[in-house]
Amino acid sequence: MKLEIKNEIAEITARVEAELQDSFRRIDETALYNQQKVLQAFIDHRVSVNNFNPTTGYGYDDTGRDTLDAIYADVFRAEDALVRHNIVNGTHCIAIALFAVLRPGDTLLAVTGKPYDTLEEVIGISGDGGGSLKEFGVNYEQVDLIGGAPDYEGIKKALHSGVKAVIIQRSKGYDWRETISVEEIGKIIACVRSVKPDTVCIVDNCYGELVEKREPTEVDADLVVGSLIKNIGGGLAQTGGYIAGKAKYVELASYRQTCPGLGKEVGATLGQNRFMYQGLFMAPHAVAQALKAAALCGGIMEALGYEVNPRPTDVRCDIIQAIKFNDEDKLIKFIQAIQSASPVDSFALPLPWDMPGYQHQVIMAAGTFVSGASIELSADAPIKPPYVGFMQGGLTYESAKIAIMHAASAVL
Ligand SMILES: *Cc1c(COP(=O)(O)O)cnc(C)c1O
Repeated sequence: MKLEIKNEIAEITARVEAELQDSFRRIDETALYNQQKVLQAFIDHRVSVNNFNPTTGYGYDDTGRDTLDAIYADVFRAEDALVRHNIVNGTHCIAIALFAVLRPGDTLLAVTGKPYDTLEEVIGISGDGGGSLKEFGVNYEQVDLIGGAPDYEGIKKALHSGVKAVIIQRSKGYDWRETISVEEIGKIIACVRSVKPDTVCIVDNCYGELVEKREPTEVDADLVVGSLIKNIGGGLAQTGGYIAGKAKYVELASYRQTCPGLGKEVGATLGQNRFMYQGLFMAPHAVAQALKAAALCGGIMEALGYEVNPRPTDVRCDIIQAIKFNDEDKLIKFIQAIQSASPVDSFALPLPWDMPGYQHQVIMAAGTFVSGASIELSADAPIKPPYVGFMQGGLTYESAKIAIMHAASAVL
């Protein structure tokens, strides 16, 4: 396969790029701000090469692990954090947070509509219920978004005395909706607390880290969670997840992640620390590259007549670019073309498949160094009308730009 960029696409790209200069400056400014935050945390915690030493067995006295927790807490302006390579993904992270906080008889209230697809079986909305919150006697209720915006009146009404925790999903997941900004998350939390102050506010922060200058923990979230093979792993973390927030809830999460009595004190890092440190260090820049790639993709696809979300020059609150194809064939072609312009497995042809945890067939392009990492350029879609594709990531703007131009050429 030869990378193919049609002349018309090259011309559109040049025009879109010129139109995006102000957006790009804004993205760079946020990256600089967040880089200083990260670097300061490394300095404050006196990171040294000793922090990268692998531990084995119980992992007692793993100063690298403990220091990384403290650095994450600083970056999130949180009281504490739990950063572990053996949290297997974002879904696992969210499940840990939910099981940490909820007890039989409690109600979990989703306040931004139905949570991400893979949480359905965790909560017990779908699946046979085995091991779900539902099986443990935790109830689930939901307040839908109205036209993509939080339904504040609905949320207030839904906060009965049994509601122990609310879950807020920052990013759009596989929905066609706005990403919820940190400011808006703050409003949701204030609204929840105005009715029921002791409600535990949990934010699914996947794809949102370091996109804005603040994180949801700065607007009073009790727990924020996310995956290390998305934004905050910076493309270098090989696997893992994080939980940050109020100390008492992070402690409960640590009891769930290991077990009561052990919590954060154990867990060998097996040599994973350096990747997690260096990934965090790289993350503000990696996120900026991904944001520019997303804006460029949105601009090119909009110029080709597709509806895109967000619009190219919109202020972004996550790294995802959604494109409405209204055509199954074109959607699949676009995603296959992203794969074929990837540095790894460019020769593989992604096809729709029954991915564990998803209700519809899903197609995924992830020609990535770290398997499935979506801070690296990737694109995916559930196969259902109106055939919306989701593109995200790009470790370097240049590589993402080439792949996007190639994919746009494929659907021209
Ligand atoms: C990616 C993602 C998750 C978790 O997905 P994993 O594949 O398990 O890491 C959860 N919520 C949102 C909004 C996501 O984007």
